Amino acid sequence: MNLMMRVKCMAGDTPLLPREGDAHCCPCCGFPGLEWPAYKNLGPPPWKSHGEPPYCQRYGDASYDVCECCGYEFGFEDNPGLGCQPISFRDYRTQWIAEGCEWFCGDRRPPYWSLREQLKRIGVDI
Ligand SMILES: [Zn+2]
Repeated sequence: MNLMMRVKCMAGDTPLLPREGDAHCCPCCGFPGLEWPAYKNLGPPPWKSHGEPPYCQRYGDASYDVCECCGYEFGFEDNPGLGCQPISFRDYRTQWIAEGCEWFCGDRRPPYWSLREQLKRIGVDI
């Protein structure tokens, strides 16, 4: 955990969840701690439907960031290049949940983390 996050933890009422405007949500799992928007014109949640990958067609340039929670790499998973199958947020999420929702950065997982709550924020019900 870096110093900024630690300060937010101590100051905020919800640990590890940056205040609105500070960070960006993962369109795949709802993790609210992305440093950059996953795609340039994605905008804030909730989102109705993302359509089909690659998402840069709809939302502009991808950040090529990897979500610390679900591990989705924006711009790569949905646009992996010739001969590889792009995977949608929905399919990736389904697979990730089926495999036990392991955090990509395990040490960033808040102690009372709820996937259901996190997904609710982006309009996904499980
Ligand atoms: Zn994610």
